Amino acid sequence: MKKIDYAKFHLQQLNSIITCPFCQSDFMIENNSLICKNNHTFNISKKGTVILYKTSKVKEDRIYNDNLFINRRNFINLGYYDELHTKICKIINEYNTKTILDMGCGEGSHDIKIINNLLNKKISLIGIDLAKNGIDMANDFIDNNFISIVGDLNNLPIKNKSIDLILNILSPSNEKEIARVLKKDGIIIKVTPKKEYLYELRNALGIKEYENEELIDKNIATKYNIIQKEEIKTTFHINKENLKYLVNMTPLMNNINVIPNIKSITIALNIYLLKVK
Ligand SMILES: [Zn+2]
Repeated sequence: MKKIDYAKFHLQQLNSIITCPFCQSDFMIENNSLICKNNHTFNISKKGTVILYKTSKVKEDRIYNDNLFINRRNFINLGYYDELHTKICKIINEYNTKTILDMGCGEGSHDIKIINNLLNKKISLIGIDLAKNGIDMANDFIDNNFISIVGDLNNLPIKNKSIDLILNILSPSNEKEIARVLKKDGIIIKVTPKKEYLYELRNALGIKEYENEELIDKNIATKYNIIQKEEIKTTFHINKENLKYLVNMTPLMNNINVIPNIKSITIALNIYLLKVK
């Protein structure tokens, strides 16, 4: 089956969930397009990508470009995030989940690792990201129960109260949209950086520190009920080759050919299990 046919299959299966970004009405699939009741029309590309966004605003991104996403996929595939994926899957496996929405899925490398480790193979995962380059790559995995869509995290093309579980890995999110699309008993898995996350690289390159960890924690606690909080923290040895991937997946650093002289890298993350207040 071609990618576009997988896309049409998934969009048909999810047609009670995915909605028009302009008028929030349902879609029909006609030929290779999604058409809403008010005739807003969105083409499905050969790569299986559909842009459910005010298309005039989608432009080539100079930071979130192909180079960044290719390097990010290479880096994630090295296994540094395996513990994160295992912990996320453990949570998902404990909940009765049919549909997962990943807000800020990028090139889908985390998503495919998660899908491959889920016990329930019928769970559907929808990835949304504004970066079309990322979504085109994420749809490499469209032959799984996974479709990625170009969309705005502040105006999700998703029906009210239709999602069981939201994933939000190292990406901004919009809590109003989360509350709108999540089912009444739905849960959120949110991953944020700890202060030690990639600190060797940030030190070497003089990149500013992440937002204060305590502040992030406080912010989350004002918006959500924290059901559970776990952390991972491991320092890995890293060679020059793999370091190149990391440097090039770092926004603002990709396309710069300066590889710092560091020998180790720390993956330190907080994993929150949250419910809307
Ligand atoms: Zn419409």
